[in-house]
Amino acid sequence: MAKINKLPKHMADLIAAGEVVERPASVVKELMENAVDAGATSITVEIQHGGISYIRVTDDGCGIDREDVKTAFVSHATSKIKTAEDLNTILTLGFRGEALPSIAAVSKVNMITKTATEEMGTSLTIEGGVITDFSDAGCAVGTTMIVRELFYNTPARMKFLKKDVSEGNCVASAVEKLALSHPEISIRFIRDGKQVFTTNGDGNLQNVCFSAFGKDFSNGLLNVDSAVGNVSVNGLVTPPFNCRGSRGMQYFFVNGRSVKNTTIMAAFESAYKNSVMVGKFPGGVLFITLPPELVDVNVHPSKIEVRFSDEKAIFDAVYHAVKSALSENTSLKQAVLPDNKTVFTDIFSKPQQEFKQTTVEENIAYTEKVLKPLSETSFVSDVKTDYVADDDDDPFNIEFPISIPEEKIESKTVIVAENPKEENNIRLIGEAYKTYIFIELNGKLCVIDKHAAHERILFNKLKSESQISGSQMLLAPVTVTLGKEEYIAVTENIETVIKSGFDVEDFGNGTVIVRSCPMDLDSCEIAPLISEIAEYLTKNRRDITNEHLDWIYHNVACRSAIKAGDDNSDVELLALAKQVVNDNDVRFCPHGRPVMIELSKYELEKQFGRV
Ligand code: ADP
Ligand code: MG
Repeated sequence: MAKINKLPKHMADLIAAGEVVERPASVVKELMENAVDAGATSITVEIQHGGISYIRVTDDGCGIDREDVKTAFVSHATSKIKTAEDLNTILTLGFRGEALPSIAAVSKVNMITKTATEEMGTSLTIEGGVITDFSDAGCAVGTTMIVRELFYNTPARMKFLKKDVSEGNCVASAVEKLALSHPEISIRFIRDGKQVFTTNGDGNLQNVCFSAFGKDFSNGLLNVDSAVGNVSVNGLVTPPFNCRGSRGMQYFFVNGRSVKNTTIMAAFESAYKNSVMVGKFPGGVLFITLPPELVDVNVHPSKIEVRFSDEKAIFDAVYHAVKSALSENTSLKQAVLPDNKTVFTDIFSKPQQEFKQTTVEENIAYTEKVLKPLSETSFVSDVKTDYVADDDDDPFNIEFPISIPEEKIESKTVIVAENPKEENNIRLIGEAYKTYIFIELNGKLCVIDKHAAHERILFNKLKSESQISGSQMLLAPVTVTLGKEEYIAVTENIETVIKSGFDVEDFGNGTVIVRSCPMDLDSCEIAPLISEIAEYLTKNRRDITNEHLDWIYHNVACRSAIKAGDDNSDVELLALAKQVVNDNDVRFCPHGRPVMIELSKYELEKQFGRV
């Protein structure tokens, strides 16, 4: 007896439905995409109980001719492609002709639709894939789809659904994604009778972000707009200081389709490297547009994954687009002070404890080393002219007659401003907690973290110097004895260590010898640093990008930089401040902490009850 049976149509449909319709959000996604493909200018989505009991999607698109209405629910019936060649140049969101039959197979569907040329619309009811009603309907041009009791006939699937709230959140996220990718369409989302958000369809992405994600996310978004070859990238991204605790706010679209893609994600995050704190992730909405033949969207039934014929081109395009958006950004993190009353009580009740910041103490303990006179270190060298205070009447104003002999200024130690703008007006106010430099910059009060600033400057300098050209020869070479594993790791990666500015050689017997080291590093730091590098290399053998080198630069910079708690003269502090101000690349320390923040006049006035 034959054992292989052809499954009846309704069973085949149920199985196929499993791939397309996973949960209410997938239904909403498919129905909204159909509305977009139909040329809608406004779409309303309404759900109840997370979309499990009720979903309605109404659009003002082209509608469906009465003679096509039933066909639309037949498997693989689509108006969007005709030939196999069409698959290579898909410009619509749908094309597989699977959504409507899949949805209809696992729920109770009512479609009401009308085209512009018809006098009367059509209403079709399908329950579990079986047509139960087909009749006239008085309605406007466009289509309304109502989906009730999802998975009512597939209890196994029903069990996999989460609570109404979670399913509702997924639906919200699907609606948001569609709204982001179509700012030109006005979208309304109603959840359990309450309007959650609307977009006005004015084509402005910033406005959509504001409606969907609120002020916190939308504030200060940076505009991305660039093209490399035939790949263009645009959208909005968060400035580094507004990064998030997860990747939840990363939205990527390829040719208008929301996708998950590791290449895009990696390129996006790489652009923020060294500007974002560990454990923080940038957010943003990025649209990647490329000729449709260079991307395969037919990889996954729900079309969430795509494949690129040239991954590298995509990586480069995204990386450069975001990187240039970030480099044009000069905005500073704004300090928001707490409610003024609490500040007063705290300050006056226990001044000592409040003022002794733990970071200072930690840092003082951390550094026992004797700092080289700062005038010999790099950042002072950028001050070439005498500093003259700009306001004589100001008691806090300090005049700094700085005269550094020209020959002391080595060109390689001068960090040149990336986009030197008009002359910045900087006035040093002073230093607090031996950590923070207060300056007035073009009339604004700014605070600089001196360690973070110096660390970043040194890090940039190390990165820009080729090989060991920025090294200093040691009077007495330093030998460092390492553990077996560590010794192997260092000798295996000796090129990387040399590249980072150490002239290091295998000395045999588990020992390496260092003859020169990066310019600003104190010689007593060499041995501990080499041990640290060795340990790091042991744990991270594989180096795909320049990760290792960057890690070493971070650590060299950290050890070479001045620390919180160090004594620095006003001359040094001002010189450092000038370097920070004049170089847009000195905004975050290599671990992503901000280097300079602005304390706005408004914030202060708020504290003093002036506003
Ligand atoms: P696909 O979108 O992949 O073509 P669907 O099953 O989602 O497949 O839809 C089948 C067809 O029904 C579409 O090709 C389109 O012609 C028509 N259709 C579906 N929804 C709408 C709508 N909201 N407005 C106009 N036509 C629609
Ligand atoms: Mg579709």
